[in-house]
Amino acid sequence: MSRTYNFCPGPAALPDAVIYQAQAELPELGDCRASVMEISHRSAAFLNIYQQTDARLREVMNISDDYAVLFLAGGATGQAAAVPLNLTAHNQHAAYIISGHWSRRAAEEARRYCQVTIAGDSAAQQYTTLPTELTIPADTAYLHIAENETVHGVEYANLPTTTLPLVADLSSNIATRVINVNDYGLIYAGAQKNLGIAGVTLVIVRRELIHPQAQTPSVWDYQKQEKSTSMYNTPPTFQIYLMGLMLDWIKQQGGVAAMEKINSQKSRLLYDYLDSTDFYLTPVNSRHCRSRINIPFLLAEESLTADFLAGCAESGLLGLAGHKVVGGVRASLYNSMPLAGVAALVEYMRLFEQQRG
Ligand SMILES: *Cc1c(COP(=O)(O)O)cnc(C)c1O
Repeated sequence: MSRTYNFCPGPAALPDAVIYQAQAELPELGDCRASVMEISHRSAAFLNIYQQTDARLREVMNISDDYAVLFLAGGATGQAAAVPLNLTAHNQHAAYIISGHWSRRAAEEARRYCQVTIAGDSAAQQYTTLPTELTIPADTAYLHIAENETVHGVEYANLPTTTLPLVADLSSNIATRVINVNDYGLIYAGAQKNLGIAGVTLVIVRRELIHPQAQTPSVWDYQKQEKSTSMYNTPPTFQIYLMGLMLDWIKQQGGVAAMEKINSQKSRLLYDYLDSTDFYLTPVNSRHCRSRINIPFLLAEESLTADFLAGCAESGLLGLAGHKVVGGVRASLYNSMPLAGVAALVEYMRLFEQQRG
């Protein structure tokens, strides 16, 4: 089987080793005599998988026991609602920094459940930079950010300074660099970009912050889910199993520190080339705001974009079309993308520029 380089923004590529291990174990897992998809979430075999995945995540991300780790359904979009429903009292304020598509969507969703204060907004800069001047009122439950804006390609190199619990959507950059989990009150992330496949969403939350409201749906009630080890209802079992395989793979590569090193090599390779030519344009020109993970760019001659993308696909470089709200091209360089994939993309870009520039 010949596989391509897949730059899809999400769901995203998986390492070959993970795909083939899942394939080999699909009909019968270990001594289960059944597929992981066919066994009870309360069986000893699955509880073992659950505990191993939880333990590996805590090890790989260095998560202390002050934090609950939940494996939930509903995506990051579900968490945009669950966060205010678990962290704010009725009518309390929460502050949101709007730095792109996903933080804006999170604030819009939260507005249905709490009083939202916009602490900063870079809409006037078309989300090509991070808001700097922040206004955060007193009596605010938390400050929410999307640490990496997957559509607009801006990422915090340093977290904003605040005394409030920081709530961060890490859907597109979780486990791509070393972080100190203690700097956060809550982290949430869908698995389908860096840690596996769609259908399971991680919530890593400091236990003392959990105060669900009376009307919080039970499946998103962190207290209920924590008490029942994410099994208040049937959890996404196959997705949790696959995250375990992905965490094993990350460990084999040398852990998150090794991921961080290769991820910065990957983004540097692409950005160095983009900065060396006028044939391609980068919307994010404040270098300290540039995402290492999602890199949007445009062809200076916009009418060439369709040809460029068609040529990419012919060369085995997939999933490069920009998000519908911004257009152009976007290369997503998640954990599974090898450096060789980015080198192949840059090589193709050079060739296209020579032929059409
Ligand atoms: C992909 C993504 C989302 C949406 O995740 P769903 O699983 O579709 O709900 C939210 N936030 C960020 C930063 C993302 O990259």
